[in-house]
Amino acid sequence: MHNKSVAQLIAGLRAKHFSSVELTRCFLDRIGSLDPQLNSFISVTEDTALAAAAAADQRLADGTAAELTGVPIAHKDIFCTQGIRTSCGSRMLDNFVPPYDATLIKRFDELGAITLGKTNMDEFAMGSSNENSYYGPVRNPWNTDLVPGGSSGGSAAAVAALLAPAATGTDTGGSIRQPAAFCGITGLKPTYGRVSRLGMVAFASSLDQAGPMAHTAEDCALLLNAMAGHDPLDSTSSPEPTQDYTAQLDNKLDGLRIGLPSEYFGDGLDAATGERIDAALQQLEAQGATLVEVSLPNSQLTIPTYYVIAPAEASTNLSRFDGVRYGHRCTDPVDLHDLYTRTRGEGFGDEVKRRILVGTYALSAGYYDAYYKKAQQVRRLIQQDFMRCFEQVDVIAGPTTPGPAFSLGAKSDDPVAMYLEDVYTLAVNLAGLPGMSVPAGFVDDKPVGLQLIGQHFDEARLLNVAHQYQQVSDWHLRQPAAMTGGAA
Ligand code: GLN
Repeated sequence: MHNKSVAQLIAGLRAKHFSSVELTRCFLDRIGSLDPQLNSFISVTEDTALAAAAAADQRLADGTAAELTGVPIAHKDIFCTQGIRTSCGSRMLDNFVPPYDATLIKRFDELGAITLGKTNMDEFAMGSSNENSYYGPVRNPWNTDLVPGGSSGGSAAAVAALLAPAATGTDTGGSIRQPAAFCGITGLKPTYGRVSRLGMVAFASSLDQAGPMAHTAEDCALLLNAMAGHDPLDSTSSPEPTQDYTAQLDNKLDGLRIGLPSEYFGDGLDAATGERIDAALQQLEAQGATLVEVSLPNSQLTIPTYYVIAPAEASTNLSRFDGVRYGHRCTDPVDLHDLYTRTRGEGFGDEVKRRILVGTYALSAGYYDAYYKKAQQVRRLIQQDFMRCFEQVDVIAGPTTPGPAFSLGAKSDDPVAMYLEDVYTLAVNLAGLPGMSVPAGFVDDKPVGLQLIGQHFDEARLLNVAHQYQQVSDWHLRQPAAMTGGAA
């Protein structure tokens, strides 16, 4: 059961090949036996999962099942879950039990999905390796000496290790795509505003977007069907109508124009990773696509632009953690100032503090125009680069990351080296576009991801391209040997 796709699980449940209770039990058992090696879950909600699975079996039996009834999934611990601790990977929220569900959680519940638990993540989604979690690092199921990527590293590792058939993640600068690439799974960051942010702990409000992580593009489409849509309670969610994201999966690729930005294939790209990406592109060409060279001339400005805007927004979002209303509070504060400084000093980790300092500086009077406003202007130029490319091509493709997963500890003392990990993913968030990572092979037994970037609200086309590629490749079906007991 554990190595079936979500689509196969839906069919198997309906055909009564197994019950939701059996299925849920199977994943809970795998979490119990394998997760001590990985640390991909912060909370496992065994009791509520089994109760929900029993209710799902009842609905399956009496013919009232919804799209995802009985299918277990895992949620990144950034989504508020009523009655279940939502830590966001931080000591600050270690004791936080939300009184409400995020809209995304509500939608999955309404469609009958079973929550297995909450996955580990970099603190407040800041990081690229999952080493910034208060709950300790997550390990990559392909090789436990390696990082799984971040910040949705727990979700990626859990799916890759077959501890959950699919999971939710969030992506502010690459946090779905980069861990998906490092763990050999498929991940989609939708267009900004496609999925409600209500109840998703805010990092950088103009960049944050939730999306699905699974083995196949088809499963990502099924999950996006559940997640996408306008939320009257989130003013930044888009009123653009949704579609059935599975409807175009079978379209052929004849006539598809794929743009290859020269900036994504130059210095800085690991040679072996580049070869895998080239091979994947040749495959797409053989399936009918035309490859077109394009340029994103402002690419070299994406890291500095992101690392002004994201910390600026983070510094304001994180000001709410003051020890007064919820979350961590220091013991015996002598006055208000002491309450604030000790609470925040104790509650936040180093990377979060670094971002608050940078962001507060960039927003302060006298520096705002020089940094924040300038960064917003450059952001517009970066977006215009993409718009110009999309006059010539339907999708843009390249590597998700400059190289495969690195060793734990390799970059944790060097924030700038860590920030370079996101060189190919950040621009997509700055431009608000949808982006995907699709398994495209291995370098030294480490997974490599092909990135696909689409026009605003063109998720169905990205999923179509990925699905067609997955009809002729099997990288997404490989499984880490240590997690299966057999060969990869
Ligand atoms: N790695 C990037 C950062 O640290 C992106 C994180 C994310 O997408 N949440 O900010």
